[in-house]
Amino acid sequence: MKHHGMKSLGLALLLLSAPTIFAQNKDAMVSSIVQEANANSQLEKYAFELVDMIGPRLVGSPQMQQAHDWVVKNYNALGAQARNEPYGEWRSWERGTSQVTMTYPRIKSLEGTQLAFSPMTKEKGIEAEVVAMPLFSSQSDFQSWLKTIKGKIILIGMNPLSGRSDANWKESASPKGYEKYQTLKSDQLKKWEGSMSYTGSTRRTLPLALENAGAVGVIDSYWTELPGITRIFDAKSKQIPVFNVGLEDYGLLYRMAEHGVKPRVSLQGNSKELGISKTYNSIAEIKGKEKPDEYVVLSAHLDSWDGASGATDNATGVITMMEAVRILRKVYPENKRTILVGNWGSEEQGLNGSSAFVEDHPEIAKNIQVVWNQDNGTGRIVRIGGSGFEKSYEYISRWVQYLPEEFRNEIQTSFPGMPGTGGSDHSSFVQKGIPAFGLSSTSWDYGKVTWHTNRDTYDKIVFDEVKQNAIIVAILTYLASEEPTLVSREKIILPIDKDGKQTVWPINLQSKRTSGN
Ligand SMILES: [Zn+2]
Repeated sequence: MKHHGMKSLGLALLLLSAPTIFAQNKDAMVSSIVQEANANSQLEKYAFELVDMIGPRLVGSPQMQQAHDWVVKNYNALGAQARNEPYGEWRSWERGTSQVTMTYPRIKSLEGTQLAFSPMTKEKGIEAEVVAMPLFSSQSDFQSWLKTIKGKIILIGMNPLSGRSDANWKESASPKGYEKYQTLKSDQLKKWEGSMSYTGSTRRTLPLALENAGAVGVIDSYWTELPGITRIFDAKSKQIPVFNVGLEDYGLLYRMAEHGVKPRVSLQGNSKELGISKTYNSIAEIKGKEKPDEYVVLSAHLDSWDGASGATDNATGVITMMEAVRILRKVYPENKRTILVGNWGSEEQGLNGSSAFVEDHPEIAKNIQVVWNQDNGTGRIVRIGGSGFEKSYEYISRWVQYLPEEFRNEIQTSFPGMPGTGGSDHSSFVQKGIPAFGLSSTSWDYGKVTWHTNRDTYDKIVFDEVKQNAIIVAILTYLASEEPTLVSREKIILPIDKDGKQTVWPINLQSKRTSGN
């Protein structure tokens, strides 16, 4: 019996071979990560400082610089080596107050704001009659209309048929009424797009054509199909101010103009032109103790549009990475590979910061294990694709097994996936053949509520889901750091397209290092 028992123990020890013990160590590490995240989360503090105190982070603006400095300060405090790395320069524009007032036929403050990079107005603003851009049936139609707009403020957005959400219509209209609304809505859009094609411009470039024709101001409205929510991008005009006005007030002006009332509006925008400023990426590194020249990269762009405060695009990505590093510093101080955090500048103008980083650091690029990028809102991570790397299923599927069960069960993986062509910063790495992956979140109606809107604010952050993401990133980073060797970079054979042509791996991304205006 004893003898037999000894034998069993020997067998048991044999079964508990190195990988099994390793797995147990890993499970213990995963528990420590989860525990630290739940016990000492700093996410709300990070979010308050970045989203509320610093606010929007438009490329080239003083607030963007404050954000870069904040990132460096926090990572240094976590024991990382952090730096702001210059890669170019950009026009520096600082938002001031915006006021839009209807002055005739009655006084009303309107919900509106100057677009980013829009020229400022005179101190007291400009006041003029408002006209609505009509539907054009030809290019010459547009050209002759241009001759009538001198001295006017032009409404250049389509005025939607209804300011109610589609869900609201569906719920409350009769089935027949809903169907009719859908038909009218798509007819209106088709007509509007047809008319726009005769202008030879987009809504973004049209203000410059109107400026050249003598207009004194432009008002756009870029509704997201939810009441009160509108997108705020940038202006391409050189002299005249471009403002966005929310759907509700925009419709008011539009109807008055159409009825021949000749409404008047005062536009006041006190932005500042501050010349040219340097653009940066904020980089933090925790040197690997065993393989310092190999990297696991945590990626999230720091810049934002400035219609609100860039809470879910992409402060949530930034604080997820910061919290993941905070956790790892505490429970995994002996990181085998170097953990590198990239908080990129100017993602919104075309992934400029991240692509500059890849261009400027071939020595890092060739030794990157994997890149984890997060940039689609506050929701919990539920999708990971293989970005077109043949063997991605092997290591990612294996690592995902270590996530807490309730997180893991929700994650859908798609392997080998396709290489991205520019949705977010992981594309900058994928284009150079580096295994880089977007960690995709549940939507929380990102497209209509927060993405580049006037409502992307602190209150939209769902902290429990961001905490879940910090845990996921910390675990995946730990596992990628511990992996015995660098993972395969083998690419899939891309398909033949419908015209019989071989599709090719995307390689066209190039960083734009100046604003050029
Ligand atoms: Zn983004």
